[in-house]
Amino acid sequence: MEQLTEAVKQRVQQLKQKVQEASYAYYALDNPIMEDAVYDRLYRELQELETQYPELISPDSPTQRVGERPASQFSSVRHNIPLYSLENAFNIDEFAKWQERWQRQTSETKIFEYVCELKIDGSAIALTYENGVLVRGATRGDGVTGEEITQNVRTIRAIPLRLNLENPPPRVEVRGEAFLGLEVFEQINHERQQSGEALFANPRNAAAGTLRQLDSRIVAKRRLDFFAYTLQIPGRDDVDVARTQWESLEVLQKMGFRVNPNRKLCQNLADVRDYYNEWNTGRLNLPYMTDGVVVKLNSILLQEQLGFTQKFPRWAVALKYPAEEAPTRVEAITVSVGRTGALTPVAELQPVQLGGTTVSRATLHNSDRISQLDIRIGDTAIVRKAGEIIPEVVRVLPELRPANTQRFLMPTSCPVCNQPVVKPANEAVTRCVNASCPAILKGALIHWVSRDALDINGMGEKLVQQLVERNVVQSVADLYDLNATRLGSLERMGKKLAEKLVTAIADSKNQPWSRVLYGLGIRHVGSVNAQTLTQKFTTVEQLAAASAANIESVYGIGAEIAQAVYQWFRVPANQTLIDRLREAGLQLANQEASSPSATGEQRELRLAGKTFVITGTLPTLKRDEAKALIQKAGGKVTDSVSAKTDYLLLGEDAGSKLAKAEKLGITRLSEAELLQMLED
Ligand code: NAD
Repeated sequence: MEQLTEAVKQRVQQLKQKVQEASYAYYALDNPIMEDAVYDRLYRELQELETQYPELISPDSPTQRVGERPASQFSSVRHNIPLYSLENAFNIDEFAKWQERWQRQTSETKIFEYVCELKIDGSAIALTYENGVLVRGATRGDGVTGEEITQNVRTIRAIPLRLNLENPPPRVEVRGEAFLGLEVFEQINHERQQSGEALFANPRNAAAGTLRQLDSRIVAKRRLDFFAYTLQIPGRDDVDVARTQWESLEVLQKMGFRVNPNRKLCQNLADVRDYYNEWNTGRLNLPYMTDGVVVKLNSILLQEQLGFTQKFPRWAVALKYPAEEAPTRVEAITVSVGRTGALTPVAELQPVQLGGTTVSRATLHNSDRISQLDIRIGDTAIVRKAGEIIPEVVRVLPELRPANTQRFLMPTSCPVCNQPVVKPANEAVTRCVNASCPAILKGALIHWVSRDALDINGMGEKLVQQLVERNVVQSVADLYDLNATRLGSLERMGKKLAEKLVTAIADSKNQPWSRVLYGLGIRHVGSVNAQTLTQKFTTVEQLAAASAANIESVYGIGAEIAQAVYQWFRVPANQTLIDRLREAGLQLANQEASSPSATGEQRELRLAGKTFVITGTLPTLKRDEAKALIQKAGGKVTDSVSAKTDYLLLGEDAGSKLAKAEKLGITRLSEAELLQMLED
């Protein structure tokens, strides 16, 4: 066992305090002070440290209790059967471990089934029916004691006041989730904003807050909804109502409750995984929030055998969706230099699972952002990675900061070439302006050889690094002077490989002018802009001679881009570069420029002025291929959905772009439909 240090003790103390504070704000005040995913990780870290150093567990630790007792004016109710929390699994592997665990605890593992249900992000309530009549509704509270909210529960239409049963048993207990639909949630927050009240952080807190409204007329207006998921009948043996969770749900529905229709009976782990994956995208189209799925053993007999831990049932688990935000420790702050000379500070992190991938670095953008965050080495930082964006630090938790940390200051000289850096007063970026800085050259080369630019196969980052460090190449034009002998002298470079590379470099001379322009790495000129520009300026001479106003007059090209292009061609070193590329035989003019065929021209313009966004995996085309086809027909492809998007080209496993496109009412297009459009 690792030795218990002062630093660990301090960390545990800080975590206890922070988790406790968050838990109080969340349960008692319905006003969370941190994101759920962040809370989950801090809680887990505390739990892990306590497992490692059991001597640090104290009875007041937040890991030792089920929930926070609410501060309220309602009278309290003791639950006949406690309302347990659910154990979390954050991915399928953790689910597999959970499965192994319950299987070890029973001999009945051969024939089992799971019921998968959506985990609705609301608030659990307990309902009691006597002789078929609703007599009591209560909040979950701390699991053992809740609050009596019968008046409020009566306002929920999805809850029957009388059970639809001919001979109701003397007593029936029903549990389920009270929640607010997204539309109602947004409306409530809108109203609160207008009347200057604090906004609810999420639908779950809004539902919990609503359930505990003292004025049930307000509750009635808020249109709470409900899904039932647990049926308990004391003395069930005589009644023999349901032997499985699946049957329970069906009985609940017959009794008059709303039961979520998106449930599924699963035979094994693979079925559970399919359900989980299906709803990871499916949930974006639901009118209410879910934050995972709940997997329960179907057999009530098996459930009874396994029983409960102090906090959880052993027969159910909440399988949560990958968090897009999580806290982690900043191990170092480094500064990298990009191909434009911009210095980018980067937080080197303790690796953390985020949005389904492991994240160990996050951008800190620039010095302004660093001062804003006041991020320090040793800090606990909240990192976000949503969809395809680069991970970034959202904020730090200064309460969890170790002693003796120092503010981080940007270096005054370039970390690569040691020359002084500059930071113009009106810009946030610090830049190395030494044109021969190896970092800038390296960045320029990597960009030049990349797939969307000159696409030189086999020229990876390591090789580029060597070429720069050994002074073999001082400009992208130098690549075209390389021969197999020169390349062969590099590390890990055999004769065959060297020859292959020379061929790949030579082949790149056939790449079209638009790719050459993109490869030059002029600021703001991405591959789409390069395409647009080369359609108008069909030779490099035309573009070099154009005025900024002339460039800006091209549809889709803004003032900033035009200025950047114009300025680039005014720099003598860049003019020399173009001359050398011309000598080397690169394409600096459109092939078809001299003789456009009439039909060719028409086809090119089929999608002119239309903007596309691509999401998911297409059945036959790669994304790049689809993009190239659209661009060739005059269309534009952008990365994110906005009101300006005309079409969403949709493949399998689409992400959040689909939800956004649906909200904005953007036309969806399949690959086949796109191809049809191009052919028509
Ligand atoms: P939980 O939310 O992880 O899971 C249990 C709950 O799931 C049940 O009580 C029920 O309300 C709900 N549920 C939804 N659908 C269900 C279904 N089909 N079957 C069974 N249950 C279903 O556990 P919890 O103990 O209620 O709360 C812990 C969670 O609360 C944490 O994971 C954390 O994310 C959040 N929390 C956040 C903060 C914060 O500061 N943000 C603080 C405390 C707790």
